[in-house]
Amino acid sequence: MTKYGFLGIGIMGKAMATNLLNAGFDVTVWNRTAAACRPLVELGAKQGKTAADVVAQSDITFAMVSDPEAAKALCFGKDGVLEGISEGKSYIDVSTVDADTSSDIYHAVKANGGRFLEAPVSGSKKPAEDGTLVFLCAGDQSLYEDAVDALDVMGKKSFYFPRMGQGAQMKLVINMIMGTMMTAFAEGLCLGDKIGLEKTDILDVIGQGAITCPMFQLKGPLMMEENFAPAFPLKHMQKDMRLALLQGDACSQPLYTSSAANNAYLKARQDGRGDEDFSAVIKNL
Ligand code: NAP
Repeated sequence: MTKYGFLGIGIMGKAMATNLLNAGFDVTVWNRTAAACRPLVELGAKQGKTAADVVAQSDITFAMVSDPEAAKALCFGKDGVLEGISEGKSYIDVSTVDADTSSDIYHAVKANGGRFLEAPVSGSKKPAEDGTLVFLCAGDQSLYEDAVDALDVMGKKSFYFPRMGQGAQMKLVINMIMGTMMTAFAEGLCLGDKIGLEKTDILDVIGQGAITCPMFQLKGPLMMEENFAPAFPLKHMQKDMRLALLQGDACSQPLYTSSAANNAYLKARQDGRGDEDFSAVIKNL
C-alpha cells in the first residue's frame, strides 16, 4: 500500500489531507505549528516529527504551504524535505508559487534521487473539502501517473503540462484573473449601493447574464453580510497578484487592471486585512 505524507495543515492542507484519510489512504502529517495536526490524527493520521521524517517514511509526500518563501524553507531548511529525499521518494508541492521556485525544488529533489511534481490547485476551501479541486501539474510524468489515485480523491480534474513551471504559471494566470474580477465586482457593488441600487438586485441581474460566475454567486451574499471569514486569505491573493505581475514584468507584458487590483489588495493588507477572506478588499471602498 502506498504511504502518503502531507506537509502544511492550513485551510487547504487540512481539507485535502482529510479527504485522503476518509478515502482510506495511509497518511502521515506534519505542520510547522504541530497542534494543527490534531484533528487529522483523530481521523487516523500518523504525525511525523519533522518534514524530513515524513518524507523518509512516505512514498509520496504532498506539501501545501503559504508562498515561495515557505515552500523553499520547507524544502531546503533544517529537517526539511530534501533531508528525507532519497532514491524512490516522491514529492508533490501543491502550494501556489512562482515557476522559478518550483524549478529550484524540482532540480534539488532530482539531484537527491527523488521525483517531483508541481501541482498547484484551482479551487478554494469548499472545493478542497468537497474533493473537487483542479490540479495543474508539471514535472515528472511517471509521478503524475503514480499519484493519480490521490489526485482523484482530492480533485475532480488534473492537467499535466509538458514543461516544468507551467503548472505554477497557469495557476498565477488564473488567480490574476480572479483577483481582478473580485476588485471589479466589489467596485460594482459599492457604486450600485451608493446610487441607491439594492445589492441583492445587482447580484440577481448578474446571475442572469453573461458575466455570472460561481465566485460572484458564492461571495456576493457573504460580502453583503460582511462575513469575511477566510476561505482564501487576502494575503495569499495579494501574493499571487504580486507573482503574476513579476511574471508580466519578466516578459514585458503590460498588466494594467491587474496592477490596479494588486494595489487594492496591498491597501487592504496595510489596513490589517491580510488574514480575512480576499473579498474583504471591498472594505477599501
Ligand atoms: P494557510 O491556511 O495560511 O496555511 C498556510 C500553511 O503554510 C500553514 O500550514 C503554515 O504553517 C504553513 N507555513 C507557512 N510558512 C511556513 C514555513 N516557513 N515553513 C513551513 N510551513 C509554513 O493557507 P491556505 O489557504 O491553506 O493556502 C496554502 C497555499 O494554497 C497557498 O499557496 C495559497 O495561495 C494556495 N491556495 C489557497 C487557496 C484557498 O482558497 N485558501 C486556494 C488555492 C490555492 P503554520 O500553521 O505553522 O503557520
